Amino acid sequence: MAGISELEKKALKLIEESSDGILQSDLWKMMNLDSREGSRLVLRLVKKGLVKREQVIVNGRRTYRLTLAKTTSEPVSVKIDISSILDIPCTTCPFINDCGPRNFHDPRLCPLLDRWLRAKTRARAQEREISRTTSM
Ligand code: SF4
Repeated sequence: MAGISELEKKALKLIEESSDGILQSDLWKMMNLDSREGSRLVLRLVKKGLVKREQVIVNGRRTYRLTLAKTTSEPVSVKIDISSILDIPCTTCPFINDCGPRNFHDPRLCPLLDRWLRAKTRARAQEREISRTTSM
């Protein structure tokens, strides 16, 4: 698999072998990882769309059950216009691989992304205003 590390491949294999999914803490133990390393690994797999993470309560504690994300073997053709997001700061961000919800680099708290979104919103509002005034 391209773009997948040996560690990620090992985790995917263990998740695949579990019939009903695997608790993320069990995965860490099986892979001999601490919670920080294990958490990062799982988040990377989720971000890549390879693993689904479902919150569950086990022995009164909240944790996550991991299962392989369903993939389709049918080729899918989708036309996407990405011109409006080509200048998003994430495309050149050195922290992209570590960025995610509740990580140190979190898109919800990122000033670069916030600034970019505000500029886009302002530009869109100006376009609408121009379109509105010219159609009068
Ligand atoms: S949200 Fe911010 S920190 Fe995360 S990848 Fe984008 S620019 Fe980088």
